[in-house]
Amino acid sequence: METQLTWYGQSAFKIVTSGGKILLVDPWLTNPVFEKAKEELAALKQVDLILITHGHSDHVGDAVEIGKRARAKLVATFDLSAALVNVLGYPSELADVETTGHMGGTITLLGGEVAVTFVPAWHGSGVSKEENAPPVYAGTPSGVIITLSDGPTIYHTGDTDLFSDMALVSRFHKIDVMLVCIGDHFTMGPARAAEAVKLVRPRTVIPMHYATFPVLTGTPEAFEHELKRRKSKIRLRVMKIGETIELSAS
Ligand SMILES: [Zn+2]
Repeated sequence: METQLTWYGQSAFKIVTSGGKILLVDPWLTNPVFEKAKEELAALKQVDLILITHGHSDHVGDAVEIGKRARAKLVATFDLSAALVNVLGYPSELADVETTGHMGGTITLLGGEVAVTFVPAWHGSGVSKEENAPPVYAGTPSGVIITLSDGPTIYHTGDTDLFSDMALVSRFHKIDVMLVCIGDHFTMGPARAAEAVKLVRPRTVIPMHYATFPVLTGTPEAFEHELKRRKSKIRLRVMKIGETIELSAS
C-alpha cells in the first residue's frame, strides 16, 4: 500500500503509512469548512501518533479527545507537550520523553517506521483552556519533518512566515511533499510561501491554512501565480477538503 494523505482543512492532515500506522497532524477536524468531521472523528478508532506544531486552538483542535479515545501518543516539543498535558488534560502517560523532542532533534518512533524532526517556525504558541482564558506558555512553535521509512518525507511548516533558514531543511532532508501555509494575515501569504518553497525545493507542494476564515485570504490560484513568476518547476497539488491522495516514496 502507498502512503495516504488526507486533508481536513486548515493545517489538519491524516497520514496512513504503508505499514498501516495512522498519524494526525494539527487535527482540528471540527473546523468551519470540513463538513464530515463528526463521521470522521467516529471513524478514527486507531490513531498511533498525534503531531502538533503549536498551541493555538486551530492546530490543537480535537487532539485531546482523539488522543484519549485512541490512546495516541502526543508528538510535540517539550513546552508544548507540557502545556497540552497540564492545561488541556492530554494524558501524561501518552506524552512521555519517547515522543517529546525539541528544535533540531529527530525522534524515531513506531519501531523505526517514522522519524520526526522538529524545525523552527516564526509564529506564536500558547495554549488556552477556553476561548477567552489567558494563554499558557507553550514554547516556540515548530514545523515538523516526517520521514517515513517506506514512504515519502513530508515537511509540514506549521504556521510561519518565510525565513531564510528554511534553506537548511533541504540540506538535511530531501523533501518529497511540503505542506505550506499560504493564507496570509496570521502566516505568510502566497508570495512569501512561494519563496519558502524555493528554499525547501520539495518534489510536490500542497497549500494549507487558507479559506477557513474570511481573513485567510491567500488562495491556491495566487500561490500558483507566485510559483510561476519564480519559474518554479515544483509540482503544485491543491487538495480538496476531505480528499485523500496517495503519495509514492521518492
Ligand atoms: Zn493557525
